[in-house]
Amino acid sequence: MTPVNSPAPAQERPVSNPWALKIASVAGIPIYLHFTFLLLLLFLGLGKLTNLLFVIALFACVALHELGHAMTALRYGIPVSDITLYPIGGIARIEKQPAPAQELWVAIAGPAVNLVIAGGLALYLAGTGQLATYTLVFNENAGWVQKVMTANLYLMLFNLIPAFPMDGGRILRAALAFSMPLERATTIAANIGQTLAILAGLFGILTGWWTLLLIAFFVYLGAGQEVMVVKRDTLVKNVSVQEAMLNEIHTLPQGATYREAADLLLSTSQQDFPVTIGEEVYGLLSRDALLRGLAQEGPDAYIASGMNREFTRADPEDDLLDLLHQMQDGSGPALVFEGERLVGMVTSENLMEFLLIRQITRDQQPETASA
Ligand SMILES: [Zn+2]
Repeated sequence: MTPVNSPAPAQERPVSNPWALKIASVAGIPIYLHFTFLLLLLFLGLGKLTNLLFVIALFACVALHELGHAMTALRYGIPVSDITLYPIGGIARIEKQPAPAQELWVAIAGPAVNLVIAGGLALYLAGTGQLATYTLVFNENAGWVQKVMTANLYLMLFNLIPAFPMDGGRILRAALAFSMPLERATTIAANIGQTLAILAGLFGILTGWWTLLLIAFFVYLGAGQEVMVVKRDTLVKNVSVQEAMLNEIHTLPQGATYREAADLLLSTSQQDFPVTIGEEVYGLLSRDALLRGLAQEGPDAYIASGMNREFTRADPEDDLLDLLHQMQDGSGPALVFEGERLVGMVTSENLMEFLLIRQITRDQQPETASA
């Protein structure tokens, strides 16, 4: 359906989505099939073979649509983390917000793919003398090629609706962003999208068209989420890791026991503890690992058995936004080093607090022209 410029918080969309099945990888981009798509396949495919062929072809078109977005993003040097296919469309997650002109082309590329497919199929149908029976209204009795062609036209039109998370919403935002800050452009585009979603939802309720109601619901949520992501990204723009990190942190020596670790957990507000040998940081003991070790191995066991040797590293001068994106896969807190010296830690809790405080202090300042 649409490229998402930033992933949702890790709790909502982990990198390895347990409800999605990896089916392919194109240009290094993993493509996932959400399990609800499999349900749709079963539901529609059980009827007739032509239905099954149609659904599989449709799914391929949705995948190509997303690849249209993804490849265009790659051409601008914007990394794409993955593509997930849902029954109502796909989502290509791209790792940073493109400039307005880039976003415009990335958004247009998806519907353009559907137009090209529809055009190609129309030529094929015309060449084989089948186009005469084709109508723009979806025809149950049409052959599956004709259905795929019609469906591609519908996919294109549906995605051009100017509402997030549809491509039309992005095209609208990109067009607005030429003449105003991104945050404002997003808010306006999202408001239009949510208004359309409410109208479509009401229409769905009045006519008993429940699929429309469901789509409207997702559109409404998608618009809200887009605003949140852009607001958050605006808040941490041009902020270094240093400004948000905790710099009073308690560490544990590698030879500490779970009892000592538990005492520290109780006496401080810290949840995760860097584990050191001398000055060097050797690993990270999370609250969960601490409690697990305490329960399974007893208070006198050494914490070295439960600590994680792998953790996210950052430099105080790093861009906070980059770190935020890195931490969204639920990898736990990041440790901040100046050279080899541990100088701070960034946890998701202190990031949330940081964002909250930025928001409050920003709201108190008179509005400035640029975000
Ligand atoms: Zn799209």
